[in-house]
Amino acid sequence: MAKVLIIGAGGVGQVVAHKCAQVLKQGGFSEIMLASRTKSKCDKIAAQIKAKWGVEIQTASVDADNVPETAALMKKFKPAVCINVALPYQDLTLMDACLEAGVNYVDTANYEPRDLAKFEYKWQWAYQEKFQKAGLIALLGSGFDPGVTNVFTAWTAKHNFSRIDELEIIDANAGNHGLPFATNFNPEINLREVSAKGRYWENGAWVETKPLEKGMVFDFPAGIGAKKLYCLYHEELESLAKHFPTLNRARFWMTFSDNYLMHMKVLENVGMLGIAPVKHKGQDIIPIEFLTTLLPDPASLGPLTKGKTCIGSLVKGLGKDGKPKATWTYNVCVHEECYEEVGSQAISYTTGVPAMIGGLLVASGVWSGKGVFNMEQMNPDPFMAELNKHGLPWVHEELPADFTLPVR
Ligand code: NDP
Repeated sequence: MAKVLIIGAGGVGQVVAHKCAQVLKQGGFSEIMLASRTKSKCDKIAAQIKAKWGVEIQTASVDADNVPETAALMKKFKPAVCINVALPYQDLTLMDACLEAGVNYVDTANYEPRDLAKFEYKWQWAYQEKFQKAGLIALLGSGFDPGVTNVFTAWTAKHNFSRIDELEIIDANAGNHGLPFATNFNPEINLREVSAKGRYWENGAWVETKPLEKGMVFDFPAGIGAKKLYCLYHEELESLAKHFPTLNRARFWMTFSDNYLMHMKVLENVGMLGIAPVKHKGQDIIPIEFLTTLLPDPASLGPLTKGKTCIGSLVKGLGKDGKPKATWTYNVCVHEECYEEVGSQAISYTTGVPAMIGGLLVASGVWSGKGVFNMEQMNPDPFMAELNKHGLPWVHEELPADFTLPVR
């Protein structure tokens, strides 16, 4: 039984707080604190949790960019683990605060500098020695993708293959919120990611593409059917290519509606995705920050979004018997069911549940270590078991060994 500190009271933070409250009732956590820049958001979530689960959670205001302030909060509350579901900009300051206060660290997205639309693990991997010396663990990317997709890959590699050669991470949001345009997680982070150049791993090197240049159609299960997907760069490719050196190809695919892409293109063309300051009536503004203010808050999409998500890892290689093999491990999640349970849509849910599980495995010592770890470096079995218990059941299917994706 351990205390957990959640930082960030957005769409994902709400789910993590609800899930930690459910686990507290089962004896998994002893106390929960939810802290964010805006305390009123934490208080609103705390009131929902009290009404729904009968659990009291503590709340606080914190600026996670400020290391001494955050470390002071940690020293006072003394959590076993801090789950960072603020923004990627806060990763390094939160890791510094954890080191200062002696707290284990879990996040769901790798560090991005505000003024450079680029994400790489190098900044967080550089903390390896500091966390080792402090005897603490930093668990990186415990969301769905990254997160569950890394664990699906590690579990499949462990139990089904003698060697993995190809990995395709396939992500469909087949839900609809009925709004003209909205992003299903933080708009600034989402649009920076999708409008960037594509990149995938092939034969020991990164292959760069124009944004959304490569596409395909994939036939999804659970009644979702055929959907158009685009190849984009996603952070888990970097760690998976490193930790599974036999991979000769690793790609990431995501669905986008024509409507989403049209809006994004127009916004890009008029400069609204810009991350450099521009002068407006004598004041400096950053276009994408202003756009984020205008766009719907992802946390508000819960009651509006209907439909399903399906995300998984398709792996090809040699089976334990040395023969060619292909498998597809995935989860299907229903937006309306997530809303019913925790008041959020499935994108926040599929991120928040694994963040809670990562926090729980670290806090309980089931996952332990000293240093900085990506999800695929941990034993996948306990995490896979917890997914089934906490609302993200998975399916593992064998595909024809010669299965190929219809990439154009
Ligand atoms: P939101 O924008 O809804 O929420 C972010 C929250 O962080 C807000 O409540 C915000 O503050 C708080 N915050 C921002 N800056 C600070 C700061 N300096 N100090 C304290 N709190 C701060 O984002 P989401 O909930 O949609 O996303 C959360 C994280 O989850 C992001 O890092 C995102 O990249 C990641 N993610 C990961 C996925 C995965 O599968 N791995 C998928 C989807 C998202 P305030 O209190 O003012 O509102």
